[in-house]
Amino acid sequence: MNAYANALLYAIPGFVVLVLIEIAYGHFVKDQKYRFFDTLSSLSSGVTNVLKDSLGLALVLISYPFLVSQLALTQTPTGWPTWVIAFIAIDFAGYWNHRLSHHVNLFWNSHVIHHSSEEFNLACALRQSISNLIGYTAILLLPAALLGVPYQVIAVLAPLHLFGQFWYHTQHIGKLGWLEYILVTPSQHRVHHAINKEYIDKNLGQIFSVWDRIFGTFQEELDEVPPKYGVLKPALTYNPLWINFQHFYNLAFDAWHAKSWMDKMRIWFMPTGWRPADVAACFERSIIEDVYAYQKYHPKETSSRKIIVFIQFLLAIGLLLYFFSQFSSLETEIQLLTGGLIFLMVMGYSSLMDGSKWALFFEGIKLLYLMALYFLIPTFFSDLALPFSLLIGVSSLSAIATNVSLTHE
Ligand SMILES: [Zn+2]
Ligand SMILES: [Zn+2]
Repeated sequence: MNAYANALLYAIPGFVVLVLIEIAYGHFVKDQKYRFFDTLSSLSSGVTNVLKDSLGLALVLISYPFLVSQLALTQTPTGWPTWVIAFIAIDFAGYWNHRLSHHVNLFWNSHVIHHSSEEFNLACALRQSISNLIGYTAILLLPAALLGVPYQVIAVLAPLHLFGQFWYHTQHIGKLGWLEYILVTPSQHRVHHAINKEYIDKNLGQIFSVWDRIFGTFQEELDEVPPKYGVLKPALTYNPLWINFQHFYNLAFDAWHAKSWMDKMRIWFMPTGWRPADVAACFERSIIEDVYAYQKYHPKETSSRKIIVFIQFLLAIGLLLYFFSQFSSLETEIQLLTGGLIFLMVMGYSSLMDGSKWALFFEGIKLLYLMALYFLIPTFFSDLALPFSLLIGVSSLSAIATNVSLTHE
């Protein structure tokens, strides 16, 4: 994971700069597509995602190296054809993985974060999951494994394929002529993020749009149907942890209350949104009926709260980049503990954006966490080359500011 952490050290500032350019452009053309807290929530979802991935927090059931070692029928010749075949295979797998994510209750849980913003901009591309804790998607790379595409090629192309999906999360680029027939474009992906009935669950391609045209999920953006963004059951929170596990919680709640064992088992694999009839009758859970009348989630955004949250966000991003710069020289235990600290920072200020008392809970846990490290693993601070006094001082100020913001605003 060292190489991934190293790549992120450069990729993260790159993404942030592009987001800032889009914000500046929106400001100059007087067509701003960003809201302050929503943007910080998107960037913070990116923080939690890269933490989870760089720390390798997933149980891999099926890995590509295993598949290729067992199933390769042939040896793909080295050279550019291998790279082309591999890229197409990754994109084909990506299309089906994405389609499953939209259509199966359990899989939707780990994708919903990407759709949870009610805005559509470059920042929401960074809303990525932390709830994909079981690795099974390599099975979709079966065609590449059968053709004997080496793992090293997949390992290089997979992050590039993911980063290649960033640019089209924008409302400032219109339709792109003949490119629309080949690539997923901003226009097509606006349709994908929209909840209008004409658009829902359409355009599931990742780089090439041909899969949608072949498999019947293509929908053009229509002038008379302006896209409304988000999810039909709004997240109503900026906290990445809640967004990641909200749908899972609802499924577990329904499975627990369902009378039939069959329903308890099958709910996880039924179409997204399916609920057992007896539970749905007892516990109502509303979804958006009229997308045009829906008022976006917009808790209080006072100037002082914005400042407090923004400083806390900068501290978390600063520590994250510092962490990645030190990553390869740190023991696994110190990596995990530092990841935990950054995670608690994100939990604190994202709950404050919601105006939720959970913010104080997370600030308190963060202070206890630092104290526990001080007494139990004192080498943590020297290994990370950050003094305890600095971290506890900053965290105490953060907790005080959070308390003031929650009680006086
Ligand atoms: Zn999607
Ligand atoms: Zn997207």
